Amino acid sequence: MSLAEQMDTVTAAAAGTVDRHATTETFESTNPATGAVVGVFPVHDAAAVRETVERARPAAQRWAELGYDGRRQRLAAYRGYLARRMHELADLVHRENGKPHADAILEITLAIDHLSWAGAHARKTLGPRRVRAGVLAANHAAYLEYQPLGVVGVIGPWNYPVFTPMGSIAYALAAGNAVVFKPSEYTPAVGAWLAAAWRAAVPDVADAFQVVTGSGETGAALCRAGVGKLAFTGSAPTGRRVMAACAETLTPVLMELGGKDAMIVDDDADVAAAADAAVWGSMSNAGQTCIGIERVYATAPVYDRFVAEVTERVRGLRPGSDDEAAYGPMTMASQAEVVKRHLDDATSSGGRAVLGGTLEGAFVSPTVLLDVPESSSAVREETFGPTITITRVADAEEALERTNASSYGLAGAVFSRSRTRAMDLARRMRSGMTSVNSVLTFASIPALPFGGVGESGFGRIHGEDGLKEFTRAKAITRQRYALPVNLMSFTRPPAAADAVARVMGVVHGRHR
Ligand code: NDP
Repeated sequence: MSLAEQMDTVTAAAAGTVDRHATTETFESTNPATGAVVGVFPVHDAAAVRETVERARPAAQRWAELGYDGRRQRLAAYRGYLARRMHELADLVHRENGKPHADAILEITLAIDHLSWAGAHARKTLGPRRVRAGVLAANHAAYLEYQPLGVVGVIGPWNYPVFTPMGSIAYALAAGNAVVFKPSEYTPAVGAWLAAAWRAAVPDVADAFQVVTGSGETGAALCRAGVGKLAFTGSAPTGRRVMAACAETLTPVLMELGGKDAMIVDDDADVAAAADAAVWGSMSNAGQTCIGIERVYATAPVYDRFVAEVTERVRGLRPGSDDEAAYGPMTMASQAEVVKRHLDDATSSGGRAVLGGTLEGAFVSPTVLLDVPESSSAVREETFGPTITITRVADAEEALERTNASSYGLAGAVFSRSRTRAMDLARRMRSGMTSVNSVLTFASIPALPFGGVGESGFGRIHGEDGLKEFTRAKAITRQRYALPVNLMSFTRPPAAADAVARVMGVVHGRHR
């Protein structure tokens, strides 16, 4: 029986595939398009979460002792397993999250690529190295290495149930940690599948990656379970609660929160390419993308053409749950309410929907909003639906000013044919990531760090920064030979400090 089939065997006794704690309370995950039950999972209470973390501790030690080569080999086995069963996992993602199968394949592909990069670059990024000791400690050798934290807790959202948590899980594992993962209550089957796949692919250190399921309380229990770090991906309000819970035990946190990303379309942009990217960036995955484009600022010379190109493309999009649909339903029914509130606010404050603006059950029609005031919630708050606002601005400077006037700062895009101009705008954009003449590309480049500023969070996943995020720097010095005079000893001669002061005066005192 395949893992996906196991997920379908929904009985109170089976309770999905993760019921190792004889928890009596369970919850269901359902297909957002049809309401069909996808899986039944235990609600792990605080005791069960703690038990899981405790079981992960010896696994963390074994995993760390395997060293970089041993871990790289096993991470390769894991990604091989995922690659061989890609369609099975994509089918589960489609059923539980609602996105088209092809989009699920794309998401899994990215996750596999990150697993590969993290495994291959861990030693070079984190391994022991000698650093210059400097003049004051010239008789010492200095060493730096990045050591794992032990057990890392990962709390993930439902919108990219494979790619997003794997941005933490892959890098935490590659850095030598064990992981206990709490998937969103909307996508527990995908989380359980990922952990079951680990057990199958890496049986000798199976407990290095485990899953606990449940709702917010299970996540809060993970914050309090004594993990070495808690990597949270989700909304800013929940992020605050997670930080507060972690503060009780001084557990460090990584916060990957929401966004209100903007695209700037400059006078000299390739308008057709910008429109194509804006439509994909805003509507794919039903707009439920933290780094999705929610706002566009187009300069006056290109505005009309841009709006025409966008509307023509959006006209061809159809939501649905079949293979030809452009995107699926809202995964979380309550998100449709948020989208509706933003649409109502946009239109009641002077904006107009040139396309879309309607909801049919869980499906939101692709919506293009014009003339929406900057004070509207459709411009200020994260909408997380297949909508886009397009605003005319005088020039790229005004576009940048409006882009940066957001409490969020996750990512964004610039379209311009001038490399210098585009790079300058990208650098000055208040965000963690910016792509020039494309959207979302940074997420597919494992060497690039991923994370936000302001309300979009702090800390980085992906790349060397992402590996270091799940470690603590360890500094070691080794005395190579003793100096005739040891300044850090009560035996030092009284004149030694004066001699040092004179040398410092000669070396540094000339700088003004
Ligand atoms: P939520 O913040 O609602 O939930 C995120 C996770 O936290 C879920 O697993 C949730 O569990 C859990 N949780 C809820 N309450 C608590 C609590 N008190 N303590 C601990 N954990 C808790 O976010 P969504 O799942 O709705 O995800 C969408 C959000 O995620 C958007 O804002 C989006 O922008 C952001 N996001 C950010 C990304 C980034 O990398 N910056 C990437 C992807 C999404 P449960 O679901 O069971 O309630």
